[in-house]
Order: sequence, then structure tokens, then C-alpha cells
Amino acid sequence: MSRIVYVNGEFLPEDQAKVSVFDRGFLMADGVYEVTTVIDGKLVDFDGHAARLVRSLGELDMDAPHSRDEWLAIHRELMHRNDLENGLIYLQVTRGATDRDFTWPEGLEQTVVLFTQAKNVTESPAAKRGISVISVPDQRWRRRDIKTVQLLYPSMAKMAAVRAGADDAWLVEDGFVTEGTSNNAYIVKGGRIVTRDLSHDILHGITRAAVLRYAREAQMEVVERPFTIEEAQAADEAFITSASSFVTPVVKIDGTTVGLGGPGPVAKRLREIYIDESRKAAV
Ligand code: PMP
Repeated sequence: MSRIVYVNGEFLPEDQAKVSVFDRGFLMADGVYEVTTVIDGKLVDFDGHAARLVRSLGELDMDAPHSRDEWLAIHRELMHRNDLENGLIYLQVTRGATDRDFTWPEGLEQTVVLFTQAKNVTESPAAKRGISVISVPDQRWRRRDIKTVQLLYPSMAKMAAVRAGADDAWLVEDGFVTEGTSNNAYIVKGGRIVTRDLSHDILHGITRAAVLRYAREAQMEVVERPFTIEEAQAADEAFITSASSFVTPVVKIDGTTVGLGGPGPVAKRLREIYIDESRKAAV
């Protein structure tokens, strides 16, 4: 399968796309990214991702290389050129290429890359059976609210989970769960949804914001505070959210079954609401 990818203003076959070996994204992880889901040829929560991108760039003293409308046009053109009906669009902006140094010259020309990944996002076997997670220490840097491309630690944590026979890892700091390797973490106890409050400790998930809004609209109680692994193991339900996994139940934590050991009613309902509402609001 040869995709058409976007690199710095051009749409090219993936084997002809090039980025400099001196790119600071490659040498220093000096870049940010977004992943936007495509359902039935439309973008889910595009404005949320576009706004977070601007914020991530700003926190790293980078300008936004494109306006919201330009980003939308690039996303649409890429979908069109790849006949992408369902899947993901990955977008990365790095500070650009310059001779390797810890400091950088001001005003570098940024590197912009986008590519598609075809995937049946709404029909997920993991969502049907629920996933298992293990806990690992959160050893990431302390600005997890910025969506940087430094994904080595989360990759190692997820790899450790898979090697241990689990699906993913929940990261734990000072005794409390921060989030999953690439998702936000939740528990449900007595009908109340609990998820960590927003701070520099976690990524401000676009899916999190939407799911909490829908939950409140459906009169579900939401409490934003940290929780421990022990509290999660004793909960009625647990789940994760992200743009690519929507709402996915967690049925085992460090080998302990959560609730009845299968997807629970709250996670199932939120997944349905989220997919329905996302379809309606997609652009
Ligand atoms: N936390 C982390 C660490 C993530 O990598 C992601 C996914 N990018 C999320 C949470 C979920 O964010 P979103 O709902 O915007 O995909």
C-alpha cells in the first residue's frame, strides 16, 4: 500500500517524502503532534485538536505554521487523495532543521508532516471484550500537557505491558494514576465517574473533554480527582479514552478483575453516545 503523505506544502507518494537528518524532531524530539480520527470521511473533534496544537506549539515557543482553515484544507485533501473513509490522520510539526546544537536559531522553517492510517475505528474488538492494564511508574517529563513527540517512555511502558501479557499500562506517580500510555484513565464507582483533574501531569485529552461533557449532559455524576490502583481495582468499572480508541473498557488491572470482568454499562453507554455525537458533529 503506497500512501500519499503531506510534507512541507507537498502531497507526495510516501517513498518520495523526505525530512532532513538534521531535523530537530529527529535529533531532539523537538516537535508536537496531533491525531485526529476520521469516521465516514469526516474529521472528529477537529477544532479541539487544532486548538490543542496551537497551545502545544505556543508552550514550546513555536509559531503555528498554518491557520485552522489551512489545517482543515490539508486534512481534507489528504483524506481525499488517500480515499480515507475511516482511520486516523497523524500531524507533526517540528522546529525544523539546523546543525545539531542544544540552542536553536530563531525563525527556523518548521517541518510539517501529515499522513493517514486506515483503520476501522468504530468496530473495535478491544472495546467489545475490554482491555487489561498493568501499572508502571510514570517516568515522563513534567509537562505532559504538551503533546510532544517524546514518546519513548510511553512506548517502553506499553511494550512492557504487552510482554507481560496485558494490553496497556497505567502510569502511577506519588501513588496515584496519572493516565494511560496514550489515553486518559477513568473509574466508575456507585455510578460516579472519577478521572484525574487537568494539570501539567496529564495530556488534556480532546476525547476526555467531549466524554465528560456528554456524561454530564446525560445526568451522570463526574468527579475530577486522582485515584489509586487499589481504588481502581475495587471499582465497578474502569475505562480509557483517546481519539483513536474512543471509550474502551478496562477489565483487569495488575491481574485483578474489575467489577464483573467485562465491559460495564457506563463505559458501553458513553462509547455509544460518543460515537453517535461524534458522527453528528464531524466536519
Ligand atoms: N494521554 C496521553 C498521554 C495521550 O498520548 C493521549 C492520546 N494522544 C491521550 C491522553 C488522549 O488524548 P485524546 O483524547 O486527545 O486523543
